[in-house]
Amino acid sequence: MPKMKKALLFLLLLHTQLSSPFPIFPETLEEKKMAIVQNYLEKFYDMPRRENKRWKNGTQLVEKIKEMQKFFGLEVTGQPDEETMEVMKMPRCGVPDIQGYKLTEGNPKWRKNDLTYSLVNYTPDLPKADVDSAIEKAIQIWSYPTPLTFTRSDDNNEVDIRITFARGAHGDNSPFDGVSGILAHAYQPGRGIGGDAHFDEDETWTTDSRGTNLFIVAAHEFGHSLGLSHSSDPGALMFPTYSFSEPSTYVLPQDDINGIQFLYGRSNNPIKPTGPTTPRTCDPQLTFDAITTLRNEVIVFKDKYFWRKQRQQLRPEFYMISLFWPSLPSGIQAAYEDVENDLVFLFKGNQYWALNGYEVRPGFPRDISDFGFPRSIQAVDAAASITENRKIYFFVKNQFWRYDKQRRAMDPGYPKNIADVFQVVANTVDAVFQRDQYFYLFTGPTYHKFDLRARRIVSVGRSNRLLNCR
Ligand SMILES: [Zn+2]
Ligand SMILES: [Zn+2]
Repeated sequence: MPKMKKALLFLLLLHTQLSSPFPIFPETLEEKKMAIVQNYLEKFYDMPRRENKRWKNGTQLVEKIKEMQKFFGLEVTGQPDEETMEVMKMPRCGVPDIQGYKLTEGNPKWRKNDLTYSLVNYTPDLPKADVDSAIEKAIQIWSYPTPLTFTRSDDNNEVDIRITFARGAHGDNSPFDGVSGILAHAYQPGRGIGGDAHFDEDETWTTDSRGTNLFIVAAHEFGHSLGLSHSSDPGALMFPTYSFSEPSTYVLPQDDINGIQFLYGRSNNPIKPTGPTTPRTCDPQLTFDAITTLRNEVIVFKDKYFWRKQRQQLRPEFYMISLFWPSLPSGIQAAYEDVENDLVFLFKGNQYWALNGYEVRPGFPRDISDFGFPRSIQAVDAAASITENRKIYFFVKNQFWRYDKQRRAMDPGYPKNIADVFQVVANTVDAVFQRDQYFYLFTGPTYHKFDLRARRIVSVGRSNRLLNCR
């Protein structure tokens, strides 16, 4: 028996060695990291293959890293820093981010508006009917803004777009890579393999936020099948990394509508569909939903997005909430950090969630009545905590409550008027967070810096200053 086990282990090792993109095992952590970087840039940024163990061409590597950082809106350092490595490890589409790369000759666009598609096989992860409806919904999302129509056929030879589930090498020289990493890929319009979409069977395909959502990935891949490249708009469907969105309420973002209409024109429908646009970081009218500290970072929530900024970081990172927390809703209304317990609490409506770093704690959402609000309060606008005296401030319309963490109850004498204590005259406060001896209160595009010791406002400015906008 032990001998058998050993042989099996050896076979497994041999297998990983053969299937690894690098024939030589990385020796150090640094080597391992550089292997990930090289592999990523080769696959998605047209980086020439490394021929031997040596890192030739250092300048080219730096330039390619910069290109990737620019695409993802990261700080452009040319170095494989922590944020860059984080993005490189995210699950994503297998199509490169370079426009015009690996294109068939000529304009990659269908020369007709009525297209056909077929399902060559099914994933065993879902009932057939669920696969059918996810695929149908995903392809039709591209027909609403355009004159395109899609008809399903059973003839796998005659159709324009063939849909296949496959694992590992599957006959097109672009093998899949097991669980996570590359989720799917699709080919630009054209004959033969052109337009076809392949889904990695090593993923667990789902209809919800667990595993990999088939509708979201398929809708993205069909964008490629129709001739779209990747978008660097983090809110676009054609953004290369995967993040979950609820399929039943999904609306094609404006960036994708613009892209597909550029290729095929507008739909003849009198109702012109529009989609959500992604907030611009330095828009002077920018307002926020909720702000909190999280360890050494500041997290700013807005719609289905958040910014994340470390103190010294010049350019905040910008992501979809679902990229980090697939189970959280969009439109978070209030947030505060409980430094003592290393938790962050998020509020929406009468529900709240606890995060431990980048993980949602089990047992949430819970009801905000836990804090002792009267029944009439069904949502809070903003929240902030003061670590030293273990108090939490909840802002609701023009009033605020103070909660005592030790007693687990609201302090008597509340609610009080925001204007009386914080000298901010507004019907609502959007977001509040504490740093050092200050509360920063955000109302629309303006913030007020309130000194908690001197009990007065010490400065007022434009909200987006928080994101280092001038
Ligand atoms: Zn893609
Ligand atoms: Zn393929």
